[in-house]
Amino acid sequence: MSSIEECNDSIESEYEALLSFMYLSPVGLVRTEPSGKIDMLNPMATQLLMPLVKFVGLENLFETLSSVAPELRNLVTSFKESCGSICVNHRVHVSSAADGGIVLACTIVKVNAEVLITVLTDISFQVATERRLRQTDSWLDAIYTIVNDFAVLGLDKQGVINSWSPSAERLTGYTEAEAIGETLRRFCNLTALEVNVLDELLTFAREEGWHSRDYLCQHKSGQIFFAQTMIAVLREEHDEFSGYTVVFRDITERKVSSDNLANLLTKDHLTGAFNRAHFFNVAEKEFARANRYGHSISIIMLDADHFKHVNDRYGHPVGDEVLKSIVKVAEGVLRPGDTIARFGGEEFVVMLPKSNSLEASVIAERLRSSIEASSVDAGGEEIKVTVSIGCASMSESRSTLKQLLTSADSALYHAKSMGRNCIVDIDEFDCK
Ligand code: GH3
Ligand code: MG
Ligand code: MG
Repeated sequence: MSSIEECNDSIESEYEALLSFMYLSPVGLVRTEPSGKIDMLNPMATQLLMPLVKFVGLENLFETLSSVAPELRNLVTSFKESCGSICVNHRVHVSSAADGGIVLACTIVKVNAEVLITVLTDISFQVATERRLRQTDSWLDAIYTIVNDFAVLGLDKQGVINSWSPSAERLTGYTEAEAIGETLRRFCNLTALEVNVLDELLTFAREEGWHSRDYLCQHKSGQIFFAQTMIAVLREEHDEFSGYTVVFRDITERKVSSDNLANLLTKDHLTGAFNRAHFFNVAEKEFARANRYGHSISIIMLDADHFKHVNDRYGHPVGDEVLKSIVKVAEGVLRPGDTIARFGGEEFVVMLPKSNSLEASVIAERLRSSIEASSVDAGGEEIKVTVSIGCASMSESRSTLKQLLTSADSALYHAKSMGRNCIVDIDEFDCK
């Protein structure tokens, strides 16, 4: 074989290698004339350009890209060097974010006066990630701004305040000297029934690493505000528990507007009692708590007697007023931690946390007698209704919400069959 033939062979095999490289390349490669006329492109380039070829075909690269990157042609014509990079990773947005957000990076290299090689890479994923990162940045910015509004303090293992910050003084009105050695109770506006809530908060934090809740707090001046409190457990070396960090901020304004929303979502629009969905939400948490601490829970089912007669005789709107009045009277009897919800038409359920059968029967009797004693004014006529009540309390054989609801319901059924306006406790089964 002559040396010329050998040379041709090697050029040919190099060319074949180049072709197979182009063919297999994971990026789009397009060889064009300076005008953009395509004389070779690999499958990846065809795939990447496919969304654009519908109207203009795939003969001239700049023509194909003209709708999304008209500037490319100008970049090429204004490039005066004999060879070199015309553009590097120039971004071409092939489709909008709504249409899949395809973005290509386009690099055009002038090989010589006759040949341009364009490299196209799909960077859609990278662009989406960048956008997400930018969002993260703005979130971090927002959080940072909020953090500046936070007050931070420290508690020792027993929950006694051992560090205080100027931000905490600003939020509560108390100086460091007044706060150190106190507990969080100093700032919380708790009712007599809620005093254990703070211990609970610390226990939850210790068990789970952190805990967050909203509290009604009191500024030194007496002003009440809502604080969002987050308690995180502090651990020293060897993972040893050493106390807590508390971060809190005033969310009164947010709370007030979100409370309107919360009412819409959780309350029955007619009576103002909670709705079923909210009842189940609250009950689930209360049952978990009862199981954790070994408390009892009682459930009361309450149904207006012969309510159909009220509607029939006085009309539906008066019936509505009676339902509202039942809830109002009940709310006056119940304790702050109790929950009354409207279960159906004229049927209500009451959850009494931390109450055994005896305590439940006392409250049930108070409900029954207060409703019996109340009346609604219907155009001069005093309307009275009575209610029948079924009670069930947690016991060894009855520990789930479902079991308690079923038991209270059958107790109610018995109360109806025993003549109405009475209370039946599923355990005692007698009419009071
Ligand atoms: P019982 O003592 O056996 O419970 O008799 P009752 O008439 O109270 O019970 P029944 O289930 O037969 O009828 C309930 C009535 O309550 C029928 C229904 O029209 C009425 N009701 C249900 N929801 C509403 C409401 O939102 N407003 C008014 N006004 N009436 C309602
Ligand atoms: Mg009824
Ligand atoms: Mg009913």
